[in-house]
Amino acid sequence: MEKGLKTEQTSERGFGRLRSLSGKRAVRETPDETHTWGRLLDRAEFFAVAERMIDTPSAEPTLMVVNIDEFREINHSLGHHAGDAVLATVARILITQATAASFDVVVGRMGADEFVLLVKDAWHDDTSALASAIVKEIRKPIDVEAVKVSIDASIGIAQAPRHGNTISTLLTVAEQGMKQAKNGKSGVVWGHHQSDKDTPQSRLVLMGDLGRAIAEEELQVYFQPKLKMSNRSLHGVEALVRWPHPIYGFVSPAEFVVAAEQTGQIHELTKFVLDTSLKQCREWFDQRIEIRVAVNVSTRNLLDTNFTETVRRLLQKYNMRGEYLVLEITEGTLMRDPDRGRQAIERIRRLGVEIALDDFGTGFSSLSYLNQLPIDELKIDRSFLAGIEEGGPNLAILRASILMGREMGKRVVVEGVETEEQAAALLELGCEIGQGYLFARPMPGKEIPNMVAPKMRFNTPVRNPA
Ligand code: C2E
Ligand code: MG
Ligand code: MG
Repeated sequence: MEKGLKTEQTSERGFGRLRSLSGKRAVRETPDETHTWGRLLDRAEFFAVAERMIDTPSAEPTLMVVNIDEFREINHSLGHHAGDAVLATVARILITQATAASFDVVVGRMGADEFVLLVKDAWHDDTSALASAIVKEIRKPIDVEAVKVSIDASIGIAQAPRHGNTISTLLTVAEQGMKQAKNGKSGVVWGHHQSDKDTPQSRLVLMGDLGRAIAEEELQVYFQPKLKMSNRSLHGVEALVRWPHPIYGFVSPAEFVVAAEQTGQIHELTKFVLDTSLKQCREWFDQRIEIRVAVNVSTRNLLDTNFTETVRRLLQKYNMRGEYLVLEITEGTLMRDPDRGRQAIERIRRLGVEIALDDFGTGFSSLSYLNQLPIDELKIDRSFLAGIEEGGPNLAILRASILMGREMGKRVVVEGVETEEQAAALLELGCEIGQGYLFARPMPGKEIPNMVAPKMRFNTPVRNPA
């Protein structure tokens, strides 16, 4: 079982004690509602109460999403016990504040480090005051196993009917506010109206539509070249999924991949991208062009016990050897369960498939952990390219990362190369491979052969790739 899940279970046990707290509001509610006040509801219970509340005529409930900042880092650096203690403390603060309020508040836990509060009927200012009081309490240092831990939280708020008429819509708006609060370190943010095209309702419709889009092959896969910078020859390509939606226009993968991870649709999505990429790889091969293709996979794929078998079958389907495939994974993903992550990587590599660590430098992995990871390629995040033409501080980070990657025997790729100056600086730092708009934008697979110099096409007889 994934460690993250274990944490949740342990935490649920920790919350058991809180369930016995009885709220003062118990006496004021109808009998079937009394059990909901003054205790922490699980996701299903919370939704049931929330749906009932929003269906009540003239009800104007307010939904608050509370998320602990950097919770993953707390778990990672202080251990899962500390993470559990932090979750239990935050739950206790929420219940205490909710019970002390002069209006009715239900508290629930959505999972991991996210809590929700539903305020039955309250003025905007009263709800804001409750949110501010919660943030203030959470910011007070917590004693965790004789260590004082300072945590912070971000809250997003949405109110019916102005932000939506369904609980899912309110949740989406509140979550957007929470993310805004997190980015701005501002504690509390009220959700706001969206443009017609970007309404939360349409976003939800969009996510509901993803399954259909995958099944009907509405999604497309583009390929972006990775070039050997010394002679600008093609080293390989990265597959990037594209969704040209019939109503909403182009939808960015940055948007729907995260949603697909949350809904579990990521398994189908990754399978589709893998299948399409290997099919394309086979077509190039049949045109006598050998190109290695990299596919982005999420942790949920990697930690899925059937995943290696899926990859093996797809390689077999197109009669391709594993070495034509690279799987790109991100640092953050692996840290959720380092041991299982490493084992999964080892299983994949036994197929001859290579592993690249994507967006390197943006996560929290320790260098010693990275050193133990059986990866083949380090893809340095494009954020480190900013200002390097003028020799800014990123230059030192890039120099050290490239050197470290090379010393560890990894292939180093820098992504997001946009200018000749950046390419020249990278070459000087010893980086062999670059990917970015300077060389080529992502393009349909049929255009890739134009990127290949004639001498790179192999001669007859054609070797069997598998
Ligand atoms: P990534 O894997 O780091 O992919 C590189 C992203 O940088 C791509 O964005 C690419 O179009 C963009 N890019 C490339 N060169 C440049 C440049 O010179 N300048 C700038 N500003 N950007 C550049 P894209 O296609 O929007 O994908 C965003 C992210 O979505 C990807 O980041 C990857 O994490 C995820 N993603 C894309 N396709 C898939 C997929 O099939 N499966 C999964 N799980 N994730 C995917
Ligand atoms: Mg990638
Ligand atoms: Mg990347």
